[in-house]
Amino acid sequence: MICLLCGSPFQSNPTWRKLILYEIEASACKRCLSKFEKADTKFDLADFKGTRYEGAIDSVTSLYSYNEVMQSYLHQYKFLQDVALAQVFAEELRHLFEKKEGIVVPIPMYPEKLLLRTFAQVDELLNSAAVPFQHLLAKTAASEQGKKSKKERLEASPLFEVTGKITAQTFILFDDIYTTGTTMHHAAKVLKNFGATRIEAITLIKG
Ligand SMILES: [Zn+2]
Repeated sequence: MICLLCGSPFQSNPTWRKLILYEIEASACKRCLSKFEKADTKFDLADFKGTRYEGAIDSVTSLYSYNEVMQSYLHQYKFLQDVALAQVFAEELRHLFEKKEGIVVPIPMYPEKLLLRTFAQVDELLNSAAVPFQHLLAKTAASEQGKKSKKERLEASPLFEVTGKITAQTFILFDDIYTTGTTMHHAAKVLKNFGATRIEAITLIKG
């Protein structure tokens, strides 16, 4: 195998797990993978206390911290549009989702952004991990979040609208990165308004 991150050849040993459980083949070498740092598991949801988003999300899980290596990975993946890089975390994402029960809903992009970027990077992470998902949310016409303060972003009108049937069960929101948590809270809130009973949030990165 050739490592997708450094281009060096590496040995990928066949194991019984790979044969029996159809494990996904590693696409990066151990040396490269070791440079990513596991995210700490504590999430500060205090910003949402007392707002209408309090309690919208029941749990948050992120795999990796946003260190330098991850920043350059994300840049290459998202902005240089290297779709093959979706495979780097495929196996780990699959293991994580295997333990979860619920309907997986990726955070959508603005259609204009999708045109610009040519592929939906959040969906592609799930595709490479063979995690089934449903598009149940669409971005509303609300303006971009970038130039607003955190308070403005929280009070803004809903960022998402529901596009499918929401039943009384668990939904798992998935995004590439969790930074302020505003996006996830907006998405969770709208799903709960439509009857979802539990919302878990999963991201590859904790910003
Ligand atoms: Zn490597």
